[in-house]
Order: sequence, then structure tokens, then C-alpha cells
Amino acid sequence: MLSAELYPPERLVAAQRATAAVGLDALLVTPGSDLRYLTGYDAHAQERLTCLVLPARGEPTLIVPTLERPAAETATTNVRIVDHPDGADPFPLVARALDGDPSVVALSDRMWAAHVLGLRAALPGAEQRLAGDVLGELRMRKSPAEVEALRAAGAAIDAVHARMGEWLRPGRTEREVGVDIADAILAAGHATVDFVIVASGPNGASPHHATADRVIGPGDPVVVDIGGTMPSGYCSDSTRTYVVGRPAPDMAELYAVLHTAQRAAVEAVRPGVTCAQVDAAAREVIADAGYGPAFLHRTGHGIGLDGHEEPYIVAGNDRPLEPGMAFSIEPGIYLAGRHGARIEDIVVCTDGGADVLNTTPTELAEL
Ligand code: ZN
Ligand code: ZN
Ligand code: ZN
Repeated sequence: MLSAELYPPERLVAAQRATAAVGLDALLVTPGSDLRYLTGYDAHAQERLTCLVLPARGEPTLIVPTLERPAAETATTNVRIVDHPDGADPFPLVARALDGDPSVVALSDRMWAAHVLGLRAALPGAEQRLAGDVLGELRMRKSPAEVEALRAAGAAIDAVHARMGEWLRPGRTEREVGVDIADAILAAGHATVDFVIVASGPNGASPHHATADRVIGPGDPVVVDIGGTMPSGYCSDSTRTYVVGRPAPDMAELYAVLHTAQRAAVEAVRPGVTCAQVDAAAREVIADAGYGPAFLHRTGHGIGLDGHEEPYIVAGNDRPLEPGMAFSIEPGIYLAGRHGARIEDIVVCTDGGADVLNTTPTELAEL
């Protein structure tokens, strides 16, 4: 896929328009997903300042350390680049790139505190706000090219789940299985492994258990939640629950409820339905079956250049879904000291409902 399709230069213009519309003078964006979204530049976050200065009106400037200039020039051709030699104070360059004294600027949400304070000193008259309020709105509606990048990420992580029978066996530890999975995430085409959860038996009751030295036993349910970032910049994230052998009757019963809940939430997705309503669709099924308190978390999160981003599928979020919004549907049931289960697919809201990007079976998989 062409990078210009995934990272079109018009995005800078759209971001400037959105910046002006909310009365901000400029966005100041340091390395991370916001910078990549705006310029295509996958910059390295470090102590030396890299900062896109995007004024509400006027020419954008990308400030980079001199040693990063070649990389920046290769990555992005549509922004003026200004570099600073190693050891020089880069923050005055930000003030210089802005026409006049700004009164309100917005900083990328995950900017290092050292840079936040450096910018405050360089722009003493400017109130600092969060750029996420502007960029989150743009980023949560995916272009067709972004949806295809997420679909490719989904196919890559599905290919890893499809191989789980090679690795999940009684007598192996979660950690050993996790190492095999991490290798396979890269082999499937991801640029990085972002997380590997292999939660067997009672560990399955902890939603964000990573891996441990627990030996997987016969009949254990195992929650496997895995994801990575593709060379495109877009993320994968999918959970399946496996049983090594045959499930105990209480596990089979719990899973049947979870499966119904996950499908109900996927089927609830369409434009105009709120994030809270999608959450409720899963939660009602689980609560009606008596597992309400065991569903410990929100139903899902947006996904794109970050593994977790807007929109959040959570009670109280009355944002209506729109075509192009991409997010996880991942209800879980967690019984402390016993076991747990989760099913997670990434879906995209379309005019006709949910486009489900993960296609491996969601039934309890017996290995
Ligand atoms: Zn999570
Ligand atoms: Zn997730
Ligand atoms: Zn996940």
C-alpha cells in the first residue's frame, strides 16, 4: 500500500482547520502516533526534541535534531524541516516557527514531561492544552486505506491464532508458549510485538495477566490475547479462549454466555447507535446469566495507530457510532481463583453494521 494513501498530505490541512475551529493557535506534536498520523514520520521518541509545529494558519514546521534530518526527509516530504545541532537549545525554534506570541497551544497527549516544561518556558504566554481533543476526533474516523491497513493487521494476528495448536500443550509453561507466539507475531508480518497474554487456569481471571511460569495442565482454559504493530503503523489485537483438552461443565456454561454476549454487541454495531449501547448489549447478556460483577471492564476500545484510542465502548459514552470508526468488542467473564474467558474481535462500523476484521472462529477452541 502506498504511504501517501495511508498518510495523505491533506491531513495537515484538516488538522489545521480543526485547530482553528476550537480556537487554538497551534498544535505541538512530538514523536508518537499523532506525529505519524499527521506526517507519516515514525520518529524515535528521545531526549532530543523532535516537534511538529502546526499553526492554525500558516506553514507547518518540523523541528528535528540535525542527526535525524535524513530520516525525517525520507519519511515526510510535505513539511518544512528545521534542524538543531546537538547540544543547542531547541525550544526557541518552536517559538520562532510560530508567527507571533500564541495564547493557547495544544500538545500531543503523550509528550514527555521534559518537553512539556521546555515548551512552557519557551512560550511563557501560552496556555497548554491537549492535542488529543483535536486529533482524537480526526483519528477515530478511519479512511478506507486505514480500514484496509487494520484488516491486514487483523489477518496477520488471525494467522497466529490459527497456529495455537502447535504451541498450547499440557506440560508447557505460559512463558514458553508466549515466546513461540511472539516469534509468530513477527513471522506473520508485524513490525513489533506489542503484548502477549497467555493466561491459563486461574490466571485467566486476571484480564491483563501477561505470562508466568505456570505449567499448563490438562483441561485448563487458556485466554490468549495478542497484538502487534504492522509496518503500516496500524495495530492488531485479538483474543481467543482455548481449552487444552475438554472444558469443565462450568467453563462450557460460562463460555456459552460470553459467546452470546460478544455476538450481541457485534450485532448492535451500526451508525447512530451509541458506544454505551454497544457496551450494554454485551453487558445485559452477561448480567442476565448472573455473571454481571464478573465482567470487570468496558466492552472495547478504539484501535488504529495506537492499540487503545477513541472511541471507548463504555457505559456513559453517548457518542454515536459513525462509519469508519474501528474498535474492539471484547467482553470477558472472570471468576477469581477459578478461571476466565474473553473473546475479542476488531470491528469497523459501516452503513450496513459491523465489518468484523478478525475471522478465526469464536467458539471455545478445544486443542
Ligand atoms: Zn486490554
Ligand atoms: Zn483490546
Ligand atoms: Zn486484546
